[in-house]
Amino acid sequence: MAQRKQSKGTCAYCGKEMAKGGMTKHLTTCTQRQEAMTAAQTNTKARAKKTETSETLYHLRVQDAYRKDYWLDLEMRGSKTLKDLDNYLRAIWLECCGHMSQFSLGGAFANEVGMRRKIGDVFQAGGELTHIYDFGTSSETLVKLVETREGIPTTSRAIALMARNNMPEEQCIECGKPATHLCIECMYEDETWGVLCDEHAETHPHDSYGEPIPLINSPRLGMCGYEGPAEPPY
Ligand SMILES: [Zn+2]
Ligand SMILES: [Zn+2]
Ligand SMILES: [Zn+2]
Ligand SMILES: [Zn+2]
Repeated sequence: MAQRKQSKGTCAYCGKEMAKGGMTKHLTTCTQRQEAMTAAQTNTKARAKKTETSETLYHLRVQDAYRKDYWLDLEMRGSKTLKDLDNYLRAIWLECCGHMSQFSLGGAFANEVGMRRKIGDVFQAGGELTHIYDFGTSSETLVKLVETREGIPTTSRAIALMARNNMPEEQCIECGKPATHLCIECMYEDETWGVLCDEHAETHPHDSYGEPIPLINSPRLGMCGYEGPAEPPY
């Protein structure tokens, strides 16, 4: 696989792009995120019926275990469960055909943590969560706690997407131009990461697994025929 530049991502609050390593710091200082947090507090106070209460919110850094330029910064309510996180990961990255999944601490399949466990309990002893989707052609995702804060969530949902990696830049194996497609036959038959530009995707000779598929922003691309859409559920 070609050498890649440091992964960049985009802040969901202000749209600023920055390197993966700088995103955590940015999120603590982002003015638009601060405004969203203040608005959540103020709106709750203004409403006669208090629908939202303050709780511990968990900043989670999620990344693919092997392809670390796929990453997410999520803010999750401590009262929500691993099932909520599992649903989110399936929607934004993983879901192809309803495979089984599992969370564990201490490495893949080490100490299983049940889907009903609340985020607020899971990280009490520290450690990193591993999520496996599909026990055959597995996708392995790591979930690390970055920090916690007390406050009113900025969303009524279980999770807020704070930042996401930009699509990794890849070069066509034929000509080095920016790649837009992936050949599945190259991957399965030749064990080559067969990424292709528009032009070479058209003229590529392989078709046993269909035409080359468009690149999408997910670490599961091409696994078990996964083609996306890799959109956040909310
Ligand atoms: Zn920002
Ligand atoms: Zn599948
Ligand atoms: Zn090309
Ligand atoms: Zn090919």
